[in-house]
Amino acid sequence: MSQSTNNSYCSFCRKSYDKVNRMIAGLDGAQICDSCVAICSKIIQRENFDTEETTQEHSQKSSFKLYKPEAIKAYLDEHIIGQDYAKRTLAVAVYNHYKRLLDEKCIESDNELSQVGTELSDVEIEKSNILLLGPTGSGKTHLARTLAKFLDVPFAIADATTLTEAGYVGDDVENIVLRLLQAANYNVNRAMCGIIYVDEIDKIGRKTDNVSITRDVSGEGVQQALLKILEGTVCNVPPQGGRKHPNQEYIQLDTTNILFICGGAFVDLEHVVSRRLGNQSIGFESSDKEFNQKTKATILRNTEPEDLVQFGLIPEFIGRLPMMAVLDPLTNKDLEHILLSTKNSLVKQFTKLFAMEGAQLKFTKSAINAIAQKAIELKTGARALRSIMEKIMLDIMYDIPSMDNVLEVQINASVVERTAKPKLKYKKVRSTSKKSAAKNKDAA
Ligand code: ADP
Repeated sequence: MSQSTNNSYCSFCRKSYDKVNRMIAGLDGAQICDSCVAICSKIIQRENFDTEETTQEHSQKSSFKLYKPEAIKAYLDEHIIGQDYAKRTLAVAVYNHYKRLLDEKCIESDNELSQVGTELSDVEIEKSNILLLGPTGSGKTHLARTLAKFLDVPFAIADATTLTEAGYVGDDVENIVLRLLQAANYNVNRAMCGIIYVDEIDKIGRKTDNVSITRDVSGEGVQQALLKILEGTVCNVPPQGGRKHPNQEYIQLDTTNILFICGGAFVDLEHVVSRRLGNQSIGFESSDKEFNQKTKATILRNTEPEDLVQFGLIPEFIGRLPMMAVLDPLTNKDLEHILLSTKNSLVKQFTKLFAMEGAQLKFTKSAINAIAQKAIELKTGARALRSIMEKIMLDIMYDIPSMDNVLEVQINASVVERTAKPKLKYKKVRSTSKKSAAKNKDAA
């Protein structure tokens, strides 16, 4: 290919050399101008895009490994402390959910499951979305995220309090699905068997005194909109997000096979349950805070849909969350455990950071206990642990990269209480200057 001469024409649009920015010459006197190149390039791009789309449409199944509840729980055990009941509930719900997709031939699996007899072949298995009840920082989001990671399915988190019914100021419910689609790299088939965690579900309870005209604060509209995507609908998802408008192109996504996990703290729900059970004991607060928390959690295990109705959730919405699990408040011992022994525990993470500087980081038992105690006082569960640790470690993390002879850094309870600095042990440095001075003396 060569540059063309001044008196040439584009073989495609017949424009002359002086009317175009660039003319490219081909074999046998053929020429093409820059605007024709641009048009051809667009045609090719469009064709490639269309072929990709059709290939995706044709491959309706996505490959998947079906894990047994025991395997799911074993993985969760490595990352989440306590919450045994919630883990078992989730493991069973998730196993059944993906088994249902297998039955509907939406996914392919390596696992062999028995063929059901003809009398059962018409039976449709309903989706088991999950409701997690538990105090803030007890691991609801962490459970859902860990689960999605283990199953290798796309995962998205949404905050129910930012959602509003279509037409009001706020986030459209479809944007939740968009987040999942983004997590699946816009692969519609992968997104269709993903997991969405909807947080703060207790905050969209129906309220009677609706005063705002710019925001749907009644909550019922949001519940109705969520209800549709929870039970399964074909959503028109705006690819760029934001509010829908008539001239926008949408991606269509069926939510029937998306697993929804909703979570909320449901503060004071135990009073509603307790009243229904005719139990007055909840009125007495013992001086033992841990005992109080455990009593509340035990009462919450008896939660029935009717209690949630009293809490402001509409019955149809609750009906779409048939699996319910209560998470226990984390005790001091649990928090110590979280600090020390989960797979990516904070202590392990900081120890690694220090090891990279050549220093060994050590926490005394009393330090770990004091950190857990501080977190309990903040009443945000394990969520507080990270910020407490960051604050304690800030100064030493600032200093250590400039100190090349530190062997060990010890954190005790006084450091946690900010009344002392970490204890440092230094590497033994051989004093070469003294030795050489002695040598010089001998020589003299
Ligand atoms: P919430 O119940 O409010 O959704 P999160 O799951 O967001 O709480 O917890 C906040 C953080 O605290 C998590 O990212 C995780 O690191 C830690 N965490 C909470 N609960 C547990 C737990 N049971 N085991 C291990 N880590 C936990």
